[in-house]
Amino acid sequence: MRRATDEGRDTRALEALESNVRIYSRVFPAIFSRARGSIMLTECGRKIIDFFSGAGALNYGHNNHEIKAAIVEYLDSDAVVHGLDMATTAKLEFLKAFDSIILQERDLQYRLQFTGPTGANAIEAALKLSRKVTGRKNVISFTRGYHGMSLGAIAASANHFYRVGSGVSLSGATFMPYDGYLGPDVDTAEYLRNMLLDKSSGVDCPAAILVETVQGEGGINVASKEWLRSIQAVAKDTGALFIVDDIQMGCGRTGEFFSFEFAGLSPDIVVMSKSLSGYGLPLSMLLVKEELDAWQPGEHTGTFRSNNLALVSATAAINIYWRDQTFSQGVHRTGELMRSRLEIIASEHGNGFSVRGRGMALGFDCQTAEIAEATTRKAFEKGLMIERCGPDDQVVKFLPALTIDHEILDQGLKIFDESLAETRKSGWRYNA
Ligand SMILES: *Cc1c(COP(=O)(O)O)cnc(C)c1O
Repeated sequence: MRRATDEGRDTRALEALESNVRIYSRVFPAIFSRARGSIMLTECGRKIIDFFSGAGALNYGHNNHEIKAAIVEYLDSDAVVHGLDMATTAKLEFLKAFDSIILQERDLQYRLQFTGPTGANAIEAALKLSRKVTGRKNVISFTRGYHGMSLGAIAASANHFYRVGSGVSLSGATFMPYDGYLGPDVDTAEYLRNMLLDKSSGVDCPAAILVETVQGEGGINVASKEWLRSIQAVAKDTGALFIVDDIQMGCGRTGEFFSFEFAGLSPDIVVMSKSLSGYGLPLSMLLVKEELDAWQPGEHTGTFRSNNLALVSATAAINIYWRDQTFSQGVHRTGELMRSRLEIIASEHGNGFSVRGRGMALGFDCQTAEIAEATTRKAFEKGLMIERCGPDDQVVKFLPALTIDHEILDQGLKIFDESLAETRKSGWRYNA
């Protein structure tokens, strides 16, 4: 096993060789070597509980052995790994499993479009298709929304730091207030409706309305069922496509496979990525209503679409976890457990702390960036990996694997509680 001094030397090598843009190696300063389920191991043997799950790309945990078995078997048989978007056995099996286990069970009908491997690639495809279908240019997106780092996706994302960093003038999106943005008494869906139905409101007719049902990066802001239904109705009434970005909140994160099921929505396009492959392999796709599948063959393309290894793990994940309700019910139960524990922590500490979220996507609002930052830093020192989100990074974001063992969940929550207590104690001393 390597010692801490080796790790220090390796960290310096990393700092010298890797671009300054690196971020998570700063937030979580360690060199990770192995991982399984909800535990990551560092080179010098430290165990870290993972409440971050690769920003939601590891809903079924690290190196899930049941899913891994399918990949290993596939590799071992010299089956096709890369085949552009050619028809392969792996693709056919994924299409059939996704259609029967996920779509038909929910009375949904979609064509599947495989895009480039990242979430941003899929967002670009969704926006491009909306513009093509409607002949319109503008897109409605929401305050605090996040959709990725390519220019079209940043244009529809609210974060100031990322927008400025793009270095060009971003166009093609109009921002509207998300649910609750103007306080509990303002129905921002009604506001959007008025703006879009008024031809002289100054907002160009949109090709699409792009929404997250829970804003993951934006601070775990939760949209209500009623609000989401109203937004869908506004899209319909104004001839815009209704797009749900389910990249982070999909694949079971909120309890059901799709984060919009609870509201009974029927989006025109659903964007999927992150946990879709089930194994942290890059795989992204759009679900597109058949009548909107207006592409010419090859009109939107890319080298790495529907990577077969990722399709094999995606098929395994669907088969293992989504054939019946058991897994989904477990996510709801674990989510409620986490929420009640976090609510107790919030009320014990007072200080205006609050908890929000759905399913196993929960946010602990620390009110100030300083408390959230110090708490997550202390938590990492104590062996818990947890990230922050929100406009000022003031919200601690709980995204454990949906498969997490309750004992490990408990240990992680305890570390969070202790870290918060220590942060508050030291802050109190500084103020005194
Ligand atoms: C992560 C994320 C994206 C972007 O995905 P990348 O793979 O990082 O390009 C888009 N939308 C949401 C909601 C996300 O969480």
